[in-house]
Amino acid sequence: MVCCAVTMCKNTSTKISKNKDGITFHRFPRDPDRRCLWEIAVNREDEWSASAFSAVCSEHFDIKDFYITEGGLRRLSVDAVPCVNISACQIPKPTFSNLPIDVKPSDSDEVMKLKFKVNRLEIIAENRKRRLHMMWQGRRRLRKKLERMKCIIKHLIRYKEDKLSENK
Ligand SMILES: [Zn+2]
Repeated sequence: MVCCAVTMCKNTSTKISKNKDGITFHRFPRDPDRRCLWEIAVNREDEWSASAFSAVCSEHFDIKDFYITEGGLRRLSVDAVPCVNISACQIPKPTFSNLPIDVKPSDSDEVMKLKFKVNRLEIIAENRKRRLHMMWQGRRRLRKKLERMKCIIKHLIRYKEDKLSENK
């Protein structure tokens, strides 16, 4: 059974069917940098790390992260990072049901072009926001690690001093 690594998500491979619900599971990337981005993105406890079996379900990816192969299979693009329906404070978004751009039949070519342009810029802005957020989280993690290291060093120094005074 495959479970979704996102804390909030209850999707498992036994509970859902690929054909009926359209939900697919995607394993963590092997590339360490991208893997780390996914680990931060799934919003788990600090000590958690992904195993070879960890996966994230398709509900957490943007519709633009997927492409359809010639054989009709849905694949995740290489640089995709989970970003949708991650935490309780995020407003749940339907991932596949609606079109990203609201195009009306009455729209002129120019209006349509502008709508696409706005949509593209919104996606870029959203991506940058997301990256910034992840960098902040990464920084927080590193700070914690640094504090722990400082503590260990302090202990080691004290231990060494104790040993030295014992030998005198
Ligand atoms: Zn999920």
